[in-house]
Amino acid sequence: MTFAVHGLPVARGIAIGRAVLMAGRVDVAHYFIPPEQVESEIARVRAGRDAVVDEIHRLQQTITGMGPKEAPHELSALLDVHLMLLQDQDLIAGVKHWISERLYNAEWALTTQLEALSRQFDEMEDEYLRERKADLEQVAERILRYMKGVATPVPPPARRPAGGLQQDLALEGTTDVPLVLIAHDLSPADMLQFKQSVFAGFVTDVGGKTSHTAIVARSMDIPAVVGARSASQLVRQDDWVIIDGDAGVMIVDPSPIILAEYQFKQRQAELERGRLGRLRHTPAVTLDGERIELFANIELPDDAAAALEAGAVGVGLFRSEFLFMGRQGHLPDEEEQYLAYRRAVEGMQGLPVTIRTIDVGADKPLDDTRHDDAHLNPALGLRAIRWSLADPAMFLTQLRAILRAAAHGKVNMLIPMLAHVSEIRHTLSLIDFARAELDNRGTAYGPIAIGAMIEIPAAAIMVRSFLNYFDFLSVGTNDLIQYTLAIDRADESVAHLYDPCHPAVLRLLADTIAACRAQGKPVSVCGEMAGDVDFTRLLLGLGLRSFSMHPAQLLAVKQEVLRADTARLAPWAQEVIASDEPGKLLA
Ligand code: PEP
Ligand code: MG
Repeated sequence: MTFAVHGLPVARGIAIGRAVLMAGRVDVAHYFIPPEQVESEIARVRAGRDAVVDEIHRLQQTITGMGPKEAPHELSALLDVHLMLLQDQDLIAGVKHWISERLYNAEWALTTQLEALSRQFDEMEDEYLRERKADLEQVAERILRYMKGVATPVPPPARRPAGGLQQDLALEGTTDVPLVLIAHDLSPADMLQFKQSVFAGFVTDVGGKTSHTAIVARSMDIPAVVGARSASQLVRQDDWVIIDGDAGVMIVDPSPIILAEYQFKQRQAELERGRLGRLRHTPAVTLDGERIELFANIELPDDAAAALEAGAVGVGLFRSEFLFMGRQGHLPDEEEQYLAYRRAVEGMQGLPVTIRTIDVGADKPLDDTRHDDAHLNPALGLRAIRWSLADPAMFLTQLRAILRAAAHGKVNMLIPMLAHVSEIRHTLSLIDFARAELDNRGTAYGPIAIGAMIEIPAAAIMVRSFLNYFDFLSVGTNDLIQYTLAIDRADESVAHLYDPCHPAVLRLLADTIAACRAQGKPVSVCGEMAGDVDFTRLLLGLGLRSFSMHPAQLLAVKQEVLRADTARLAPWAQEVIASDEPGKLLA
């Protein structure tokens, strides 16, 4: 039966594919194996299952001979149930199916089948049988634990299925079926694992439009919906699903007529993409001759290729924290960071690269071992520059690596989340110290421009003081909105109040741009507003001449720029920011 689930649109486009449900267990590895590894992967699960069976047999022998006090009768009955579940054909046959048909790795196949069987248990009328779901979970947990202790093959690079929809549908039942990922939640690090991956779209139950998970989804340029509440409960493994990333809707089990309509929309979007592609080499100049710089936001050095492909004039924001995620506490050392930054710099072929120093915390935990849920309010806690200043050795390592990369091309350094002059002074003195360390070592480094992000209202209000210390500023509207309006950007329950058009937000933004222009210092916007075509005219009218966004958004923004006349937009923009309801004037 066809039904729709609504959420928040985060990345545009239409995806049609089979649901891969990742309900709950994102802690196991998810990757695709090469076909020649199918047998050994099945053998790994079998070995895990057999080891758990042996363990239970041993336990049964131990409790035989014990008195009813030490080993109550229920314990032996429970072990019998576990043995029965372990020998259940549906469990092993299902796991074999996911491995051989979908090329899932063993852990992924096991958790997928566990999920499918759990749903069958949920639907059982008999209460006793329904409760056996917990036993099944325990059994699967034991197998997983056993497999964890056994050497796991190195995951091969993920691949993405090729071919259009027609071809994909014709390949139904093979490993080339397009897949869409449905999960309760995904951390930015999980998302990163899926970059350049197989998935044609994403839906998550939680998350706001500018949560970091949504930002990575957008950078992958595939349709995505977040905040879809109970999506992962309503969809079953392998259901056909349409993700409408423009409307923020997921349609499950579409009827042929709905499917045809969305296939048509998908083709239209392809044509539009082709049309925009022709603008790649067109200079971004407005009708009245203002030259506009369109930069790219990237997460990993290899994203430089997409930035060049989109015609970006440089990288305006390299979110360096993604190099630090999922490392289980082993942070990249100076050499590894230097090589990564250098790769981005060389990848941009002479164009400038703005590297932001590490911005972890809040909805960007480093990994499970350093998760900071213990703090009551992580978005207001030890995040970004506060985290760096609290760990000077780590910070100096990063600063040296960035300075060294600057010997290979034009590099700017951007500092996130500053609010206090004392933080500014401390940061600048550490940058000097990092230079001195490199001098002492005789290691080469290059010149850098140093900029600050304006993403806390306090920073926007004292922007003129900031300008005394920095070469340029970059406005992080994602956080500026979050902190101005006291709305958690990752919380879908308050997403309706996360309003870029709030007069307070727009006035802080307008004043920051005006202050920089008055002093002739470069200013850019690198939050999601910069890539949203609904705001291009307003930002141009406020005097912004530099935008940084995901490469996928760049050509649509360029199209707006080419149609704009900044001389005419300027008075209108002043009217907008003076209004109590700017959204109405923007509509
Ligand atoms: C911002 O806050 O707007 C920004 C660009 O930084 P991030 O989204 O990584 O917090
Ligand atoms: Mg930010």
